[in-house]
Amino acid sequence: MLSQGSLDSLKASLRGPIIEPGDAAYETARKVYNGMIDRRPRLIARCADVSDVITALRFGRENSLLTAVRGGGHNAGGLGSCDDGLVIDLSLMRYTRVDPAARTVRVGGGATWGDVDHATHAFGMATPSGIISTTGVGGLTLGGGLGHLTRKCGLSIDNLLGADVVLADGRFVTVGPEEHPDLFWAILGGGGNFGIVTSFLFRLHPIGTVHAGPTLWELDEATEAMQWYREFITTAPDDINGFFAFLTVPPAPPFPEPLHMKKMCGVVWCYTGPADRFEEHFNPVRRFRPPALDLVAPMPYPALQGMFDGLYPPGLQWYWNADFVTDLSDEAIDRHVQYGDQLPSVHSTMHLYPINGAAHRVGKQDTAWSFREANFVQVIVGVDPDPANNPRTIAWSKEYWRRMHPNSAGGAYVNMMMDEGQERVQAAYRDNYPRLAQVKAKYDPGNLFRVNQNIKPA
Ligand SMILES: Cc1cc2nc3c(=O)[nH]c(=O)nc-3n(C[C@H](O)[C@H](O)[C@H](O)COP(=O)(O)OP(=O)(O)OC[C@H]3O[C@@H](n4cnc5c(N)ncnc54)[C@H](O)[C@@H]3O)c2cc1C
Repeated sequence: MLSQGSLDSLKASLRGPIIEPGDAAYETARKVYNGMIDRRPRLIARCADVSDVITALRFGRENSLLTAVRGGGHNAGGLGSCDDGLVIDLSLMRYTRVDPAARTVRVGGGATWGDVDHATHAFGMATPSGIISTTGVGGLTLGGGLGHLTRKCGLSIDNLLGADVVLADGRFVTVGPEEHPDLFWAILGGGGNFGIVTSFLFRLHPIGTVHAGPTLWELDEATEAMQWYREFITTAPDDINGFFAFLTVPPAPPFPEPLHMKKMCGVVWCYTGPADRFEEHFNPVRRFRPPALDLVAPMPYPALQGMFDGLYPPGLQWYWNADFVTDLSDEAIDRHVQYGDQLPSVHSTMHLYPINGAAHRVGKQDTAWSFREANFVQVIVGVDPDPANNPRTIAWSKEYWRRMHPNSAGGAYVNMMMDEGQERVQAAYRDNYPRLAQVKAKYDPGNLFRVNQNIKPA
């Protein structure tokens, strides 16, 4: 039981609001991106600044409240919230500041990638993010961060230069290669296990306009398309990124009516090289075989980042399973094609994201992200607006994943896992897990930060 006095004093010391069950804002504030998640926290502290974060964290600790940290709220497993505990909600801390001379951007711990792209694009620059602009910078970065710029610039963590962190004991530290290097290493992929990141500092790259968009092929061409993609993307120049997908064509522009609701396969491309060399670089794609639909065109990088926002608004029912893949065998491709043909809903999909190129040129022990030799992150995504369809989308995702798992590298990308237990968390970090557990023991020995893909203190 929380005393009214202690709650009143907490409210008086914060700049941001405290939201409780019964408050008008509660039902909206407790929602996360995945409509399948239905958590009811005891308190939501919507922090306005670092001082609020320190105060709220101390309150949670003193009152033995289970504490969750919410960045963008996108985590499919619902790790940005909890039942009966305290949610430290960073969604008011969305500031950005670009330093064009130093080519860096400083970003508040609750910003979304849309906020960052908006700020950096004005300077003709970008940093590696994901593929949907409403995703939080916090969770995506702390788990690794892959997207359209992975092959060219590496993962988001490969571009993180430093961060401000509030630790479990309430101390505030700045981390980087020279300051608390052990903690800095751990947050490069180790998730929200080590503290609350109140600000991130990223390196920027001169990327403004890109040649991007999907090329789609018929499903009966999927085996050849996947085999061709496998060879192409593992040898292509870093300037070309493209993730493979099975999808149902949405019944809306810019897709032509004859393709509406058709199951197809395709690749979503992003070319970041010189504009006058695009045709030369992209020729092999069109030479493989003319796509049924080719929407690749020059566009601002933020337009690519927001391309799928309309298709995937907040509130859909999400269930996904992932794995790292090093070698995509012909046998695995056959199985992919079988399940790609059985997509259970319009929003359901399978993505194979390339994680080679620049992301391969970082050592396995240089960051907490261990699978540097893997070529792909495979994610099988069962999504639908209607909860009544959950049994169907979940069953498809689980069965598809189970059949593909023997072809995987053994672990999964933590940001694309549900709540799958300790064994899967350890498999995700592999040989880096013991070192992560040591860092956890040093900075969070009581495991205060445990609403995450949890690393237990050694
Ligand atoms: C539609 C969609 C698209 C996606 N696309 C991509 C993609 O292209 N590339 C990719 O790599 N991933 C992608 N993801 C996965 C995404 O990276 C994870 O879901 C990630 O956890 C989201 O971060 P968030 O801050 O929005 O989530 P939240 O639910 O707010 O938080 C997730 C976890 O991170 C912790 N956390 C968040 N912010 C902080 C912080 N500032 N300090 C400490 N801990 C923090 C939370 O405590 C929690 O454990 C996508 C997810 C969805 C649903």
